[in-house]
Amino acid sequence: MLSPIQEYVEQLHSRYASSMEGHVADYIPELSKADPRLFGICIATRDGHVYEVGDTRHPFTIQSISKALVYGLALEDRGEEHVLSRIGVEPSGEAFNAISLREGSGAPFNPMINAGAIATAGQILKKDGKSRIERVVEYLSGFAGRDLTINQSVYRSESETGHRNRAIGWLLRNFGILDEDPDETLETYFQQCSVEVTCRDLALMGATIANQGIQPLTRKRAIAAEYVDNVLGVMATCGMYDWSGEWIYRVGLPAKSGVGGGILAVLPGQLGIGIFSPPLDKQGNSDRGIKVCMDLSRELALHMMNPT
Ligand code: GLN
Repeated sequence: MLSPIQEYVEQLHSRYASSMEGHVADYIPELSKADPRLFGICIATRDGHVYEVGDTRHPFTIQSISKALVYGLALEDRGEEHVLSRIGVEPSGEAFNAISLREGSGAPFNPMINAGAIATAGQILKKDGKSRIERVVEYLSGFAGRDLTINQSVYRSESETGHRNRAIGWLLRNFGILDEDPDETLETYFQQCSVEVTCRDLALMGATIANQGIQPLTRKRAIAAEYVDNVLGVMATCGMYDWSGEWIYRVGLPAKSGVGGGILAVLPGQLGIGIFSPPLDKQGNSDRGIKVCMDLSRELALHMMNPT
């Protein structure tokens, strides 16, 4: 017999299966090749139950969702005060690629916009004979519970066209937010965005955060328990670009989206949600992903501010 949750996610999937609003990201040439019909929904609970429907095993690039998790690694490497001295935690109300830094210090507003994420990548230590990107891929793999890899064509495409991000990198260097020339940090950032995940991985990553940092299937720790609230805090306030306020108002779950069409949402202490649908709305969030999450939150009473 189908579990009631499995039955519910299947219904939800068919409700939106033919909805095709929004546009696949095309500012990185390789991303424009995504099939707009792809659509997956996955819920993973903190004790490792997984409910999935649709294209939940189809690989796509994690993009900006990586920003939330890599922020955890920077905190582990450098500690909260050091990271806060370089990167703020205030919502910017601006687009993800805005060239905006705080007046005076030059600190990015938060780690979820590109400026903050590039600054965060610059905080990752090279350690145990491993490069930054090796450590980042390993870290992200810990949340997914399997070995993730980089999509080299997306990485190349991203690096060939990433002039705006390079400009942001040099501004950060100018303000001393980056301690060294930004080239290597930028390549780390482009590669981190090009890590391939599935919708199922996103749900399990969310479940890992919901489970105080322990991956529910491998039972291994992915993030130090003391930084879980920091990661969830920036997701809740800044995770959905310049739609973050509306998102927390309507959906009420810490979340992070990426231009590959993924959304990762977390109900702290309970479960992770992964959505995959490439067409984006004008803020750069998965259009169908937003609709699904609004329904999910309402129909399963998941809004964090109104616990049942
Ligand atoms: N790689 C992308 C960029 O920096 C990440 C953007 C995103 O998902 N919003 O342009």
